[in-house]
Amino acid sequence: MSFYVTTPIYYVNAAPHLGHAYTTIAADVLARHHRQRGEQVFFLTGTDEHGEPVADAAHALGMQPQELADRNSERFRALAPRIAATNDFFIRTTDPEHMQVVQEILTRVRDNGHVYMGTYEGWYCPRCADFKAENEVDEGELCPIHHVKLTREQEDNYFFALSSFQEPLERLYAEREDFVAPRSRYNEALSFIRSGLRDVPLSRHKLTWGVPVPWDPEHVFYVWFDALLNYYSALSYAPAPGSGVEGGSGVEGGGTEQPGAGDLTATFWPADVHLIAKDILRFHAVYWPALLMAAGIELPRKLFVHGYLLMDGEKMSKSLGNVLDPFEAIDRFGSDALRFYLLRDVSFGQDGSVSTASFEQRYESELANDYGNLASRTIAMIVRYREGTVGDELDSALAADFAGLGERVSELIDGVQLTGALDEIWGRVRRLNRYVEEQAPWRLAKDPARAADLDRVLGTLAEGLRVVSVLLHPYLPDSTERLLDALGVPDRTLATADFGQGKVQSVRALEPLFPKKDAGEPAGQPA
Ligand SMILES: [Zn+2]
Repeated sequence: MSFYVTTPIYYVNAAPHLGHAYTTIAADVLARHHRQRGEQVFFLTGTDEHGEPVADAAHALGMQPQELADRNSERFRALAPRIAATNDFFIRTTDPEHMQVVQEILTRVRDNGHVYMGTYEGWYCPRCADFKAENEVDEGELCPIHHVKLTREQEDNYFFALSSFQEPLERLYAEREDFVAPRSRYNEALSFIRSGLRDVPLSRHKLTWGVPVPWDPEHVFYVWFDALLNYYSALSYAPAPGSGVEGGSGVEGGGTEQPGAGDLTATFWPADVHLIAKDILRFHAVYWPALLMAAGIELPRKLFVHGYLLMDGEKMSKSLGNVLDPFEAIDRFGSDALRFYLLRDVSFGQDGSVSTASFEQRYESELANDYGNLASRTIAMIVRYREGTVGDELDSALAADFAGLGERVSELIDGVQLTGALDEIWGRVRRLNRYVEEQAPWRLAKDPARAADLDRVLGTLAEGLRVVSVLLHPYLPDSTERLLDALGVPDRTLATADFGQGKVQSVRALEPLFPKKDAGEPAGQPA
């Protein structure tokens, strides 16, 4: 079994912000979960570096486009380890290997008869690097996304005959109702297709910052086609996952064969999930499958479209100036807390508001209290009452409450229901907290006649903590690892996520997983 997940490649004409972290964190949860299943996983992220906006920004700074791309790409590469993302490769569209694949595939698309020379005239947003259809132009000829003045452009370009894929795309959407999720995005893409597809520019004539069109070097490929092909090109030259070149950690818990070095396409293509934000839906849900059909390449299995993180009701973006800095949040609360908050507070797939206040509240009430405190109390009681040794007997009532949990979480994650899966797990974290209150082990400890009951309660708590921690591992990789180590059960494979599967034998002391925060205090690792 293999699993291939991608983030969009991030445009280098900006610094990384929370929206980038959000998509990468979600992809990382998917990648880590599938590694827990023992699958071969390839997790790709990277940067999109060509196009007019980069050339313009470089010019304004008195730099060459490549210099700007190098500098900004490095910022995105550095984001991944800060948020504990285990991407197996970081692609740059200025990689010569990528550029060569773009030229090969788009030449094939031309040879297959889907490219012609034509004249394009329309409203163009330099920030989007895209022409706008007449019905997308805001009043005053403004970009609906960037609120900047659009320019009227006319160019002799090579065109991609998108309109000839109208019927194949309608058939694709009829046959594969899960090609795009959530359903609202599927409907949006389908209605765009049904509204009538027009051919789109494949090249730009006046630009030089891009992949040259091999049959006509006065043109470069339109940046979107160059960018989309990264998902495919990366597999032809990325090192095998687990070889330690990027942050990818190979398989969780070991035991799966690594693919050999060389071309990974046969192992990982088609991609299982492309994660995208809704502003790039059309490129991914319409242009991308049409381009692959035109090249005779198998289509990806699923696009999952997440919503926007909103601050004051508007999308966060650099150009709107309302960016919440993920690095500040990580400095103060740690990367686990940021990962948890973003997938817990906003239902993945929908828009939702984020704020520092709700972040702090989730940290205190859920991470520090529900989970961190449960772990500390349980381990402290086992150490205090039983010198760290855990008995064999488990409470059957609690086992029933955990029945089928691992399967349920897997099903939800297969549907990219990352918030739903977290809800399921958190329900059991809360169940364990109620169990502590119901059983009051500190009272049992005072009555020697109830020693067996105390053993059972403490053993049940340790086992429950182990199970939720295995399932939480993709979301909270650092703290669950510390807790599972303290429980003496380092196995994180999904096969051990059933209650009673991986009996805790003994525990050792654990520093608080999520220390209480005073205002302004940096997180830091507990000594
Ligand atoms: Zn725009």
